[in-house]
Amino acid sequence: MKRIYSPDSLTKLVDSLRKTNKTIGLVPTMGALHQGHASLITRSRRENDVTILSIFVNPAQFGPTEDFNRYPRTEIKDELLAKNNNVDIMFCPTNKSIYPSGYLTFVRVERLESMLCGAKRKGHFKGVATIVAKLLNIAKPDKLYMGQKDAQQSIIIQRMIKDLNFPVKLKICPTIREKDGLAVSSRNIYLSQSQRIEAPVIFKTLSQAKLLIKKGNKDVEKIKKYINTSIEKHSSAKVEYVDCVKADDLSEVLRLKGRILIAVALKFGKTRLIDNIIVSS
Ligand code: AMP
Repeated sequence: MKRIYSPDSLTKLVDSLRKTNKTIGLVPTMGALHQGHASLITRSRRENDVTILSIFVNPAQFGPTEDFNRYPRTEIKDELLAKNNNVDIMFCPTNKSIYPSGYLTFVRVERLESMLCGAKRKGHFKGVATIVAKLLNIAKPDKLYMGQKDAQQSIIIQRMIKDLNFPVKLKICPTIREKDGLAVSSRNIYLSQSQRIEAPVIFKTLSQAKLLIKKGNKDVEKIKKYINTSIEKHSSAKVEYVDCVKADDLSEVLRLKGRILIAVALKFGKTRLIDNIIVSS
């Protein structure tokens, strides 16, 4: 596995690989790697000659009161996971090489950036779209791998790729879960023992809601209320939002018909978790 720290060196390397017709898959992450990230790497390895894993805790996507400083950084473990999963190139740029002094340019995906998580996390998706645009320009992948776990992020990036003519195919990979249903996340380590015991209620409730919709409950407000009440009744979590939107473009729905994304964000103390489920009916 090659480790690369500078954007220019990575671009030089991928240019030489592309000359030999190698296909390139890119898996962007913020490190603290887990089985969710590993699943994206595995898929990229299956579909490309070369897999690049980027690890960059992107300051531009954290608000001033968010957890940038305490975001888990586990470089040694990450390197091991990357090696064990046969990553070809690990790209770990410094903040300065990504945002050198005088940096002024950002990408915004209007409307989509201010819904769901974007309503609470102002500027978050501007930071996400900007770093992904930069990584696409630096690594020039044929395919980009992202997780369904961050459904809004994936939809925003899909929109950006289309709108800005990036020559890349986005592959959205299924959410990897713990045995008890909790979506694997770098932030799960912040949960206390009792919060961790309660946390599976999130996916349990989403799955129950899916059943209710399949059985014919099509009322958006009733389903949202059911999810909110069930999570707060069976855990100490505070629900930040529950929303039911069209799964392909996050637009509003009046009835729960077609492909619907049910997304939830909640807080266990200071720890913010998100999850979602897609229902087709
Ligand atoms: P992060 O390091 O949290 O920014 O995540 C990097 C990528 O991994 C994003 O595309 C996430 O959607 C994806 N990811 C995170 N958790 C999971 C999971 N449990 N299953 C599948 N993909 C995930």
